[in-house]
Amino acid sequence: MTTALRETAPSVRDVSVFGDAIAYFNEAADLLELDGGMRRILTHPSRQIIFSIPFQRDSGEFEVYTGYRVQYNFARGPAKGGIRYHPGVTLDEVTALAFWMTWKCAVVDLPFGGGKGGVTCDPATLSSNELERITRRYAAELVEVVGPDKDVPAPDVNTTPQVMAWFMDTYSMHVRQNMPGVVTGKPLEIGGSRGRVEATGRGVTICALDEMAEMGLRPEEATIAIQGFGNVGRYAAKLFKDRGCKVVGISDVTGAYYNEQGINVYGAMEHTSKFGTLEGFKGGDRITNTELLTSPCDVLVPAALEKVFTAEIASKVQAKLLVEGANGPTTPEADRIFREKGIVVIPDIMANAGGVTVSYFEWAQDRMGYFWKEAEVNEKLEDFLLSNLRAIRAIANSRHATLRTAAYTLAIDRVVKASLLRGIYA
Ligand code: NAD
Repeated sequence: MTTALRETAPSVRDVSVFGDAIAYFNEAADLLELDGGMRRILTHPSRQIIFSIPFQRDSGEFEVYTGYRVQYNFARGPAKGGIRYHPGVTLDEVTALAFWMTWKCAVVDLPFGGGKGGVTCDPATLSSNELERITRRYAAELVEVVGPDKDVPAPDVNTTPQVMAWFMDTYSMHVRQNMPGVVTGKPLEIGGSRGRVEATGRGVTICALDEMAEMGLRPEEATIAIQGFGNVGRYAAKLFKDRGCKVVGISDVTGAYYNEQGINVYGAMEHTSKFGTLEGFKGGDRITNTELLTSPCDVLVPAALEKVFTAEIASKVQAKLLVEGANGPTTPEADRIFREKGIVVIPDIMANAGGVTVSYFEWAQDRMGYFWKEAEVNEKLEDFLLSNLRAIRAIANSRHATLRTAAYTLAIDRVVKASLLRGIYA
């Protein structure tokens, strides 16, 4: 095996892109009165793997990319987390995302630890054949350390169901048996789960509607604004609309649209299917993306990028409820402002956990060789999300904490309990 393990795993505290998640972790660890030793264990990744991916361009030229896989924690089960193809991928970023996955899987009570992987490359410059060769080499390098009981990758930025199919095929060829459970997010034809495509947006809507009921906000009276109209944002918009809410604002990288009478969500979906983006959409007044975030609405869903809520933007947010479809959209400074203004925030590790939850269902279905109907998937998804959201709310109420701190508290407590039951093997 050419895979090289780092000789010393750096503490995750050193990882710069990662400050916000650590800040949230520490707040919950303080609430749990977590001792120093356990904090040290939980802020160090179990395993970081770095390797070279040599490959041949269609032109015949040779190139070498760098691949990563970080298996952050295994206390509750196999590592779980996506694979990112992006020019900005670094070991630090992958470690940060694997740390995050550890809490996300724990907060919804999935039998997984946390992991993440990536290749530093620009997929926009790669042909489909080149992507396939990179993916197969990436998978081959990891054959010994991934598997349904070891580490189960999934799609992330710029990796698709097709990429997962190549990964699964390469792994299966190496181990000489069909192993669909080695990755999730596969096409339906080769062991994917029904409901996976909509799952994250559906989860956002499930969490939002439950919190709205808690706040006494009826769906038919609620106005919703959503930043981002990709996989998460568009399905969240559709499902809010289907539940009778009025979606008043939507946006994507090309611009934002506001219509106090309600956006025609299906029209916007058709527009993006036809043209790729919302550019030229006629269903609302054109505003800036910042204006969208501070526009009049009851529920605001960031579903695009990290760190969109700076202190300045947070102080102008008018929504009563923020549901974090994106990962890490709120800086700790903005979070403090939301707290002071009484804006309720459903944190990312809970609000966007619908995707990984249906990935768990996919893994379970693959292992059984028996596949559920979409209604069954959706019903189980709702059950997982609501039972854990309500557990978080109970912690928040009893400890006078925010939902975010309560979510980290629940997740950390679950990982700590599993770690202590297993003990430290030495
Ligand atoms: P996507 O690429 O499908 O969509 C992203 C959307 O954001 C696009 O509409 C894009 O135009 C828009 N966008 C980009 N820059 C923007 C900007 N400056 N202003 C406004 N909009 C902008 O991605 P996605 O899968 O929908 O993921 C969105 C977020 O949700 C990411 O943070 C991702 O990590 C997180 N997330 C996704 C999933 C999932 O299952 N897809 C699961 C958990 C978390």
